[in-house]
Amino acid sequence: GYLRPETAQGQFVNFSRLLEFNNQKMPFASAMVGRSFRNEIAPRQGLLRVREFTMAEVEHYVDPENKDHPRFDEVAHIELPLLPSQVQLDGKTTPVMMRIGDAVTSGTVDNQTLGYFLARIYLYLMAVGIKHELLRFRQHLPNEMAHYATDCWDAEIKTSHGWIECVGCADRSAYDLTKHSAYTKEKLCVRENLPEPLVTEKLVCETNSKVFGPKLKRAAKPVQEHLESLSDANLTAIQSALSTDGKATVVLSGTSADGEYEITPDMVTIETRTITEHVREYTPNVIEPSFGVGRILYSLLEHSFNVRAGDEQRSFFSFKPAVAPFKCLVLPLSGHASFAKPLQDVARRLRAGGVPARVDDAASASIGRRYARNDELGTPFAITVDFQTADDGTVTLRERDTTKQIRAPIDEIVELVKCLVNGSTSWDDVLSKHPLVDTSTSDSTA
Ligand code: AMP
Repeated sequence: GYLRPETAQGQFVNFSRLLEFNNQKMPFASAMVGRSFRNEIAPRQGLLRVREFTMAEVEHYVDPENKDHPRFDEVAHIELPLLPSQVQLDGKTTPVMMRIGDAVTSGTVDNQTLGYFLARIYLYLMAVGIKHELLRFRQHLPNEMAHYATDCWDAEIKTSHGWIECVGCADRSAYDLTKHSAYTKEKLCVRENLPEPLVTEKLVCETNSKVFGPKLKRAAKPVQEHLESLSDANLTAIQSALSTDGKATVVLSGTSADGEYEITPDMVTIETRTITEHVREYTPNVIEPSFGVGRILYSLLEHSFNVRAGDEQRSFFSFKPAVAPFKCLVLPLSGHASFAKPLQDVARRLRAGGVPARVDDAASASIGRRYARNDELGTPFAITVDFQTADDGTVTLRERDTTKQIRAPIDEIVELVKCLVNGSTSWDDVLSKHPLVDTSTSDSTA
């Protein structure tokens, strides 16, 4: 049996089709999320080291002669905590804060595309709620780097288990596509029309089939392929051996007809030809960010876990709205019958606006207890329907981390929650525009 250790190879073998989907245009990327498997000797530490885990990988294909990224300008100003290999070799472990634009210009990070993805990984980890001071990008030391990699950085996150590699980001060069191509004999390359035809002089070896085939028999094809693949320097050596000694020896290895074969002048013609090329053919290089989803999730849980000051029993997850399973809790102040209709109305409006909402109307629990248990689930916002709702159509909006509340009409609160959830406004913004509601009774009864 075979279990893949990464999702990458499934993407590489589909390269030609992916390129076609992209109208043969470079650069472009493919991405995949799926299970990967590693034969770990000691699986342990929960989600951190397992034999089967979820991986998300982007394979970004670039021209090896131009690894600039068209959107690098958008991220060049972002400062990343970098731990370059030289800093580690000097025995230091403190990351250097560096703008990614400067890191690429100074050669600390090999190229723009790799730098672009390091910045995007950083933005992603910040967006889901990883703590900035517990994140670093560590460059692989020369002896750690895969032999085919040009440069490689790991996003490492600090948890109670130490620094954990959560995202790898490597320039894998043309290694994978070249290997697949060599073994399958399928071309995995890009063909680009040249703006100007390229004229070059090249030594070419042609075989004389009348003599070549009968003399070499079954070895004829592999020997011919070998001769056609030789560099100018090797062909020159054969050419001079043929003219001085009247024969040359060709050695095949790694083929079905390995051995030594003698070539004589009547079997081949080696001469310089002028070659005009209209198309450039090349194997792309691949920049690969590789996310270990379980490790990121575990780190996120640790970084988001908090307890209320002075009360260790009251824990809560400070999930960002983007990752919180429920974005908004909707609850009545008590089990009073008049609250039922506005409660459903608020929940329906939130859901219609694309905000996953949860109703907690269990009459058996106090309002404070219901806030507290939804804080434990990490629900960032809570809308409460109370006696004032029937009078003036207003409800309160509570934020989980600060436990502060404001009051406004239902329509306005629903709009505010939509903006808070999609990130177009912040809780600080909301607080600066609305007076605080006194919560001394509701939150203290937990
Ligand atoms: P690698 O291809 O070894 O660089 O792994 C890519 C990513 O997969 C790493 O950055 C980790 O986040 C994740 N990963 C690797 N091995 C494991 C494992 N045994 N358990 C969980 N996640 C893993």
